[in-house]
Amino acid sequence: MDFDFENRIVAPEFSSAEDNDIELSLRPKTIGEYIGQDKAKENLSVYIEAARQRGEPLDHVLLYGPPGLGKTTLAGIIANEMGVNFRVTSGPAIEKPGDLAALLTNLNDGDVLFIDEIHRLSRAVEEVLYPAMEDNVLDIIIGKGPSARSIRLDLHRFTLVGATTRAGQLSAPLRDRFGVILRLELYTPAQLAEIVNRSAGILGIDIEQDGAMEIASRSRGTPRIANRLLKRSRDFAQVMADGAINKKTSSLALDRMEIDELGLDSIDRLILKTMIRNYNGGPVGLETIAAAIGEEAVTIEDVYEPYLMQIGFLSRTPRGRTVTPAGYAHLGIAMPGQQRLDV
Ligand code: ADP
Repeated sequence: MDFDFENRIVAPEFSSAEDNDIELSLRPKTIGEYIGQDKAKENLSVYIEAARQRGEPLDHVLLYGPPGLGKTTLAGIIANEMGVNFRVTSGPAIEKPGDLAALLTNLNDGDVLFIDEIHRLSRAVEEVLYPAMEDNVLDIIIGKGPSARSIRLDLHRFTLVGATTRAGQLSAPLRDRFGVILRLELYTPAQLAEIVNRSAGILGIDIEQDGAMEIASRSRGTPRIANRLLKRSRDFAQVMADGAINKKTSSLALDRMEIDELGLDSIDRLILKTMIRNYNGGPVGLETIAAAIGEEAVTIEDVYEPYLMQIGFLSRTPRGRTVTPAGYAHLGIAMPGQQRLDV
């Protein structure tokens, strides 16, 4: 079976240029506008206030959690609250140590440099980053072989905000250089409903509370997905009803998009079904599942698994992944040795 992973409606990554523009307008700019993540927000507010009082840049911050949870947004808020510039780049975009040197030397005092997917920095680039993070200096090697020598350049003070979906993949020396490490959690439906209402307000979309709740409960804990489902629901409400999003129009839209009442789409169901049909529900290795459905193992691990585990449909064991009884029940498939469960 061929699935269109790129355009998967519940994919937490960006999809099109139009979506990117809308995303920008929906991004909260201040910590007060940022909904949920109370623990991270409370601590961060204290650190920001303390740094501001001392007239120092904020310590380097590492944000980790699944895609679409608001890491980039929070980094932008840090810059905004500190009253400094916000520079954005990503691990794969910094190919050579020279690329990083160029970025660092262009920062003004106190600026925030945001590196998304920081676990994908190369070793050589990471090594340039260490003295920059620790002592605000850049060690540059000039020349090659025996005549090579190193010169040291002073940099402005800056805050590095790194984001990663997988803190475990970060090298220990890099992780140790972050003074603040914050883990972002999946959002509750009530928080997502608040985000949906806020976005609807900004986009001028007419939405009722039960419509916002319906979208929220099918957004797999992820604000980016909630915003995307809101936009698609608006299309359905506009064409098939009088334009207002309520429970009826939003569930019609979500059913049409094949997103079930728990937010699972065809690919989530494919993962569970493949595990059940081909591997008796597990335990089965991640690589095997990936090969069977034609998706990369890291994508399954970062994008699909967190939610399937959160709702208790999948569990990780030392011998591999297994589908839980709740996962079987949701698909209406009987567990081996049991009667078919009617749901
Ligand atoms: P990440 O960097 O973790 O992939 P983003 O910061 O790009 O996620 O967030 C995706 C979108 O979700 C943003 O455009 C923003 O509109 C919305 N969003 C994320 N977190 C929040 C939040 N706490 N409150 C309101 N909207 C949010």
